[in-house]
Amino acid sequence: TEHIVIAGGGLAGATAGKTLRAEGFEGSVTVLCAEEQPPYLRPPLSKEFLLGKAGEETVSVLPPGWYQENGVELLMGEPASSIDTTRHLLALAGGRVLQYSKLLLATGAQPRRIPLPGSDLDGVMTFRTLADSKRLRGLLDGGGKRVVMVGSGWIGMELAAAARSYGNDVTLLGLEDIPLSAAIGPELGGFFRTLHEANGVQFRLPASAAEITGQDGRVTAVVTNTGESLPADLVVIAVGVVPDTALAEAAGVELRNGILVDASLRTSAPDVFAAGDVANALHPFTGEHHRSEHWHNALHGGKVAAKAMLGQAAVLDMVPYFYTDQFTVSMEYSGFPTLAAGTTPVIRGSLDEGSFIAYWLRDGAVVAGMSVNQRRVQKPIKALISGRIPVDAGQLSDPGVPLEEL
Ligand code: FAD
Repeated sequence: TEHIVIAGGGLAGATAGKTLRAEGFEGSVTVLCAEEQPPYLRPPLSKEFLLGKAGEETVSVLPPGWYQENGVELLMGEPASSIDTTRHLLALAGGRVLQYSKLLLATGAQPRRIPLPGSDLDGVMTFRTLADSKRLRGLLDGGGKRVVMVGSGWIGMELAAAARSYGNDVTLLGLEDIPLSAAIGPELGGFFRTLHEANGVQFRLPASAAEITGQDGRVTAVVTNTGESLPADLVVIAVGVVPDTALAEAAGVELRNGILVDASLRTSAPDVFAAGDVANALHPFTGEHHRSEHWHNALHGGKVAAKAMLGQAAVLDMVPYFYTDQFTVSMEYSGFPTLAAGTTPVIRGSLDEGSFIAYWLRDGAVVAGMSVNQRRVQKPIKALISGRIPVDAGQLSDPGVPLEEL
């Protein structure tokens, strides 16, 4: 009988399980979770859940009863430990061995660890899991703490906003001159910096943490490479993630910046697929491989992998999308950051008023669009990108010209 095994119960893995049943697959399905937790969504962990505005029930990918009702075996606290791709066998850390007809690797990513003296002190943490979010929420609540955030990417910025919203002192260090500039360029990174400064977040940029000092096993300060000592009760290290390729690597599955897959998410091993943060997938739009670390990619990757495992002609070809919420700002971004890199965005609306769309163009066509505090504009932005429609920058920046008419 057919048995589809999904190693990694995150958004990609759970969505794949759901899609298999939705597509009428009647064989066995097993979802393996390394964590003692049914699959959950991570975006709220640094936003509404951390801020205490949403409860644990809101982070579940699927309703708690779904797995049983749909005959999907959910094994929690049961990491996969090795794969024999020739014999189609997967071993669990607990010793059980599963025979698979198709296997999906959806092992996600882990926080990047940096060799920083003092990182093991009490009060120093990385941030990825529901347990991390619960712990940080407990520490931030009540305010009055000195928080040092190491890392000026999306997670560092969201955590800084949350920490500040609870009334803590927040200082953020990062390697860039301007936060987020590697992702969205200096103009838009500057917008987020201004937003944070207006809300009382302090920056040290560019600066790196050279050492974390402590007393009696507890953190007391972060010493920067410029010799400054920043007093700290709590330090969060958010310096990016690395794809969790251990299982694939040991099995000899081809890796390149994650697990290398084609547009249907097939790996180099027969009947083995990969989706979500761990997968570096060929994108038909650019003809290049992209590894995305975003919610939308895990959701659609899970769907595409499930369909491909059932032999359907599915490809992951949508325009990449992600979002962030920080203080009063809701931002959405669609497009290809690699194509946008190095080009100057065209702005429609006003950065000062905190409501605008930024467009990046290449060869006269929009390749990325970011909207801040605007509703229902992502659909036309995606249509412009996927249509490769040549646009006039003057019209693009003119709020009087409806987006649909560009
Ligand atoms: P994961 O969610 O990492 O799930 C993989 C799971 O596999 C993990 O639970 C892991 O424990 C498990 N696993 C690993 N190895 C094994 C093994 N050997 N056996 C069994 N299980 C294993 N994206 C956005 O677009 N917008 C946002 O605002 C946003 N905010 C975020 C905030 C935070 C705090 C974080 C951490 C991420 C955020 N993201 C956001 C990114 C988004 O959450 C990820 O892209 C998404 O979770 C990826 O899903 P995934 O299923 O590929 O991997």
